[in-house]
Amino acid sequence: MNAQELWKTAYHQLELQLDRASFETWLRGASLLAVDGDVFVIGVRNDYAREMLQHRLYRNVRRVLSDVTGRPVELRFEVNKAPVPQMATKEDALVQMPLFQFMARQEPIETPVPLHQQILRPERAPLPDSDLNGKYTFERFIPGNENQMVFAAAQAVADMPGGTYNPFFIYGGVGLGKTHLLQAIAHRCRMRNQRAIYVPSEVFINDLVDAIRQKTTAMFRDKYRSCDVLLVDDIQFIAGKESSQEEFFHTFNALYTFNKQVVLASDRPPRDLQTLEARLRSRFEGGLVIDIQAPELETRTAILYQWAKESNVSLQPSTCEMIASKARTNVRELEGIFNQIVATIRLSGSTITPMLTDDILDGYRRPRHRVTLKQVLETVAGYHGLSIEDLAGPKRNGPINQARQIAMFLAREYTTASLPQIGDAFGGRRHSTVLHSCSKVEEEIQTSDAYAGVVNYLRERLVKLK
Ligand code: ADP
Ligand code: MG
Repeated sequence: MNAQELWKTAYHQLELQLDRASFETWLRGASLLAVDGDVFVIGVRNDYAREMLQHRLYRNVRRVLSDVTGRPVELRFEVNKAPVPQMATKEDALVQMPLFQFMARQEPIETPVPLHQQILRPERAPLPDSDLNGKYTFERFIPGNENQMVFAAAQAVADMPGGTYNPFFIYGGVGLGKTHLLQAIAHRCRMRNQRAIYVPSEVFINDLVDAIRQKTTAMFRDKYRSCDVLLVDDIQFIAGKESSQEEFFHTFNALYTFNKQVVLASDRPPRDLQTLEARLRSRFEGGLVIDIQAPELETRTAILYQWAKESNVSLQPSTCEMIASKARTNVRELEGIFNQIVATIRLSGSTITPMLTDDILDGYRRPRHRVTLKQVLETVAGYHGLSIEDLAGPKRNGPINQARQIAMFLAREYTTASLPQIGDAFGGRRHSTVLHSCSKVEEEIQTSDAYAGVVNYLRERLVKLK
């Protein structure tokens, strides 16, 4: 590509990435006047645009142009004296007004106002907290020695989004606390009234598909590009999905250009995301990539101890240690075991003995083979005396609803099906319905021992299936 073509490409990327208002006001019609060594000389329409670009948008434009060129470049903005009649807009008239002329002569502002505050944007209602789990906070996360670094980094990101660690990429096995940390970041940012959007990547993908189908892609873009912090969970599901990757790439660039924070979680490091486009992979690797480790014995004990305290169950430290030494699994399983122990203590009034712990751990063993959606439907329907058609169909009475929620929850826990696949198995319900059901069940398990007992019983049935 020659220099003019490089500039054209960068110009179009900037058009995509900058907010419309700033692009239209400052960059529309800008042209490449000359290349002077590493310096690209860009002609702009007036003094005001030159000032804004030189002092406030310099880094954004340079980053895009350097990307396109493949080497670091510098910029100089000059007022393009050639008349460009098609650009005589209202704004042009506006900048000829004395105030603007005065501003254009001002010294550059020392500490520029954050860009997102300069750009006019409609006021948006704050995000509802219902999409976050209230318990996934930093205060409730016990890092242990093995996860000190990822814990510290997550807090640094939450305290200074868009700072040094951008993007921030956490990877590790299931049930180790990735979602917990992502949501903790979101909680903290929202406390400062920053707009933090948390989405599982499946939801991002589905939103995009819906937007394309309903021709509302502009709204989709607006939603995902207008936040201060975007947290995408389980990003591995986006690998191999071309149009979603493409859109995510642009979303990512748009946010990154404005120093907005992007946080990602995945079950494996970027390099192992086989079907991920190279340009996305290199973006992910360009930030801070940290793995999250399985908790050591000491950490597992501390976690159990905290949970016992929170649920007002008296578990001696020695008992916690005994359970922790036997449950060498991930934290999600530890949680399942803990809930079952609590239910046992409450139901039987018994104290917890080593033998009882063994029994519970035996019962909780995970299935060696993943179970199928059909097996989940059959097991849950059978237990509740329902037909599979009832369970998967449109009926909405209380008991059916509850059984259906449990079935969705177990499908998420024990099968490899994605949220949309689970939704399909339940008569074409939406992924968000599945997600909602799962959190509902989690909540119920916490509040009702009888309910937890039913879920655990069904778990055992599924575990024992061949
Ligand atoms: P992942 O997203 O990595 O699969 P989650 O974030 O869903 O894992 O964690 C599973 C469960 O374990 C959640 O209930 C979470 O609160 C809990 N958990 C994980 N790690 C910790 C930790 N270090 N301290 C306290 N709770 C934890
Ligand atoms: Mg998770």
